[in-house]
Amino acid sequence: MLDVAVIGGGPAALSAALNLKIRNKNFVLLGGNEKVTGLMKAPQIDNYLGLKGLSGAELIKSFREHAESMGVEIKKEKVYNILDMGGYFSINAGNEFYEAVSIIIATGHGKADYFEGEREYLGKGIGYCATCDGPLYRNKPVAIIAENEEGEEEANFLSEICGQVYYIPTYRTEPKLKDNIKLFKENVTGIQGDGNKVYSMTTDQRVLKVDAVFIIRNVIPADRLIEGLELQEGAIKVDRNMAAGIKGVFACGDCAGKPYQLAKAVGEGNTASLSAVKYLEQIR
Ligand SMILES: Cc1cc2nc3c(=O)[nH]c(=O)nc-3n(C[C@H](O)[C@H](O)[C@H](O)COP(=O)(O)OP(=O)(O)OC[C@H]3O[C@@H](n4cnc5c(N)ncnc54)[C@H](O)[C@@H]3O)c2cc1C
Repeated sequence: MLDVAVIGGGPAALSAALNLKIRNKNFVLLGGNEKVTGLMKAPQIDNYLGLKGLSGAELIKSFREHAESMGVEIKKEKVYNILDMGGYFSINAGNEFYEAVSIIIATGHGKADYFEGEREYLGKGIGYCATCDGPLYRNKPVAIIAENEEGEEEANFLSEICGQVYYIPTYRTEPKLKDNIKLFKENVTGIQGDGNKVYSMTTDQRVLKVDAVFIIRNVIPADRLIEGLELQEGAIKVDRNMAAGIKGVFACGDCAGKPYQLAKAVGEGNTASLSAVKYLEQIR
């Protein structure tokens, strides 16, 4: 059983992990897609004390190198779901499962909008992990809506087991897909079903008959990651100790609300890790 699982791979998560390492805790850092952090897009950061004029990419590289030099291992696994087992948490990271006494969520700022039908049919044909649930739709038509290139790997995998695979990217680069996948660069307008399961999805140009829709998001909505999290203006509601309202769960950085700033993310990551350490001491 791990002491802590840190979910995220940006400045907040790395700051939390660094301090957990210094405090000699048994933890895992599940960082997801390293390209997803908004920081990668920042051409120049001038307001981070002591490291002026670096680009976001240079800064995050330096943060990762610092953490790794202290012995932090950054796993690239993405977390899809966390279950509160009463006293500990079970973390589903695709094909891997972890158990931890405490959780630090540092997944960054996600798109707050759900597609029409998304909340209603989540688990009834809509999923966030094609690798996990794709085999349930053997020889059936499925669609993937992807916010980033991760969706391409998922679509290529599904094309080997499902029937027709439709790919709808919401990002700009040209997807690299197998020939049997149909690509539609169109705006998704909704996902429909009969109350129990999905039967179609619509774009601004067509109706696609599908049994499942996988939505590959940069950030899985926090209230879907773990049940019972309270949100405030789309962010995880936390107190000054970064406690997120569920015993043993802490949140930090952009996922815990505005302002979306690097210094805040790093500071909150530090606070969250110290709070997690204190929590572990209290319950043992
Ligand atoms: C273009 C741009 C310019 C900016 N310029 C500045 C600036 O000049 N100064 C400043 O202070 N701030 C700036 N920011 C804001 C700053 O980048 C953010 O505040 C900061 O990166 C937040 O850190 P974070 O760790 O909370 O989230 P992020 O940096 O977004 O990192 C989140 C991480 O979590 C991972 N993740 C997400 N979901 C999962 C999951 N389910 N499982 C595992 N991992 C997951 C992602 O892959 C990512 O690595 C800028 C942002 C942008 C987009």
